[in-house]
Amino acid sequence: MTLSRRHFLCLVGAAGSAFGLELLQSRNVLAESLLPNPMLEPVASTWLAQAKVEGPFSLPPLPYAYDALEPHIDTMTMQIHHDRHHAAYVNNLNAAIAKYPQLASKTAEDLVKDLASLPEDIRTAVRNNAGGHINHSMFWQIMGPKAGGEPKGEIAAAINTSFGSFAEFKQKFNQAGAKQFGSGWAWLVKDASGKLLVTGTANQDSPLMNGQIPIMGNDVWEHAYYLKYQNKRADYLAAWWNVVNWQEINRRFTKA
Ligand code: MN
Repeated sequence: MTLSRRHFLCLVGAAGSAFGLELLQSRNVLAESLLPNPMLEPVASTWLAQAKVEGPFSLPPLPYAYDALEPHIDTMTMQIHHDRHHAAYVNNLNAAIAKYPQLASKTAEDLVKDLASLPEDIRTAVRNNAGGHINHSMFWQIMGPKAGGEPKGEIAAAINTSFGSFAEFKQKFNQAGAKQFGSGWAWLVKDASGKLLVTGTANQDSPLMNGQIPIMGNDVWEHAYYLKYQNKRADYLAAWWNVVNWQEINRRFTKA
């Protein structure tokens, strides 16, 4: 009887935790790409130590303490999300562009706005990892301690004009987050005609890839909420408004 790889891995997994490391190593060897892939979370990129790849992109520090968003977003989620997931996107992006030095002077935004111009062998890696880097860099900034409440400034008026009221906007935004199948983001974007829209993207796609400017976005990957909320994504979506930093969102809106 021959065993498929899948069966083999199941057997190794069933043998118990003593074989956990071997399981990780087998799966890692079987990974098709040499680049750690954050899509294969958590095994390939998150829990295995990986050598830091030097390059033009770096992980921005979290602008507040890991526990600053408690009780709405828990400390361990923030640690893992920032220090491991976001770090992996940065590392993978540096690795992807390492053999194309002409790309080192570009911003992550430049890269995702014109994916078609990139060498084909790195296009998917840049899409996922520059997208992940941009999305998370925004995400930390548009949240904060002692935040939430009603929008302030010009964005408040624009939300009322575009969606009727803050309550209607919130409902629409939560719906976009709830209906995103699998991993992705819910967004408030400004489109090319200047109109505000609620939208969603899959995986780490940025609205910039669709010619839209991201004003605010919520991460609905399970890694953003699973430790505290498990399968209850709607509870996470509802609680998230308590940490929304309207001052920063208004700043993004006025410069968009
Ligand atoms: Mn994330």
